[in-house]
Amino acid sequence: EKITIKELGQKTNIEPVKLIKKLIDFGLMLNINADINFESAKRLLKEFGFEAEKEEEESKEKLVKKIKEESAGNLKPRPPVVTVMGHVDHGKTTLLDAIRETRVAAQEAGGITQHIGASQIEKDGKIIIFLDTPGHEAFTALRARGASVTDIVVLVVAADDGVMPQTIEAINHAKAAGVPIIVAVNKIDKPDANPEKVKQQLTEYGLIPEEWGGDTIFVNVSARNRIGIDQLLEMILLVADMQELKADYDSPAVGVIIEAKLDKGRGPVASVIVQKGTLKVGDIIVAGGTWGKVRAMFDSRGKIVKEATPSIPVEVIGFEEVPVAGDILKVVVDEKTAREMAEKEKELLKEKEDITSPKVSLEKLFDKIKKGEVKELNIIIKADVHGSLEALKQAIEKCSNDQVVIRIIHGGVGAINESDILLASASNAVVIGFNVRPDSNARKLAEKENIDIRTYRIIYELIEDLQSAMKGLLEPEY
Ligand code: GDP
Repeated sequence: EKITIKELGQKTNIEPVKLIKKLIDFGLMLNINADINFESAKRLLKEFGFEAEKEEEESKEKLVKKIKEESAGNLKPRPPVVTVMGHVDHGKTTLLDAIRETRVAAQEAGGITQHIGASQIEKDGKIIIFLDTPGHEAFTALRARGASVTDIVVLVVAADDGVMPQTIEAINHAKAAGVPIIVAVNKIDKPDANPEKVKQQLTEYGLIPEEWGGDTIFVNVSARNRIGIDQLLEMILLVADMQELKADYDSPAVGVIIEAKLDKGRGPVASVIVQKGTLKVGDIIVAGGTWGKVRAMFDSRGKIVKEATPSIPVEVIGFEEVPVAGDILKVVVDEKTAREMAEKEKELLKEKEDITSPKVSLEKLFDKIKKGEVKELNIIIKADVHGSLEALKQAIEKCSNDQVVIRIIHGGVGAINESDILLASASNAVVIGFNVRPDSNARKLAEKENIDIRTYRIIYELIEDLQSAMKGLLEPEY
């Protein structure tokens, strides 16, 4: 039993436009002549206060399947967005340069790459986007603001230096975000390079090469000598294929601001990666507390473009004020709506600043458990020495009970740093220091982001606090 939206409108005296708009709320983009089945029609009419008589019941599963099929019809593949991470001096910048140089220059001799925060390269006719700011801090800062744009992480590990503290940070930041990792073992040109050792070391962190039965892809490269770059790009495309990255190209655009600045001549300028839909010149846009109208757009080669499809980075001119990196960009119907949404967001931000209670804290944990708001407690743990780190991890994880699973999303040796706080903010985690304290930047950021930091000198006290927190018996800490 099927009916077109037009017929349904005629029968019920509801304007078809209204029906179509409601369907968009359901995630379905359909035109007036599209067929919908009885179940869908019934659900739709219910939204307008009608109870349609039932003639034929379709099972819920069937309906869900249908809705999926209908909305999948608009999905098309999109290019992957990649972030390069790794320890300082392991060659992230050099690798990005090598990739851009071999790929961008090859296509357009003399073409100058504009700095718009991301680079678009091509390999075998396929596009890959690289975020220009390497490192897990930038990656997690975006996530802390609620935006994630990265599909694949390339982890650079220098073959002469091996796994270092920021290598581990990068792995845990990528894992917390659920983003797959490809390992680029760099500097293989060096006489003391030992790529096998790097592989060995990384198995400890769950990155196991395929030849050893795992599913992590390793590529040996020399960023400086431009060796292995093509293979790395091929592997990126392979992983992207497996992820089946898709987006709806037809809906109103939604994207993420990856960079923004005030340009003397052009006013506020924002780099955007569209995640869904197509952004067009003339669109009315909102991002955080600001709004505007797309006056002009430029691609990563500085060329004027009229539209931006999913994953493709563009520079957008036309915001009233400079948005903030990590803000979500949305296209809305008119200026009035845009202004209202931006105002509302500004108010929300103000309110947020007034609230001082942490996102998640040990004190509030039990309340949240009771309300069913918390099923998992994420913990970041920093310790003074390796030995105690391992002991702590085991002891803490044993505290999980029927109601709450404790997960250690990152453990490291050394002071609590900004990167730890960012990760805590992005993953809603509590930070625990064992015989270490936060450095001053971390302390400031923690205050801003409302992150609960607790420091201990005795394992037993930490475990006792955790257990009390889970039972709601923790004394507040002043
Ligand atoms: P980043 O801090 O991770 O961005 O590292 P850089 O890209 O700045 O590289 C750090 C240093 O390592 C620089 O002096 C590079 O020239 C050098 N380097 C990078 N890649 C290679 C490589 O493949 N082989 C050699 N021998 N040196 C490299």
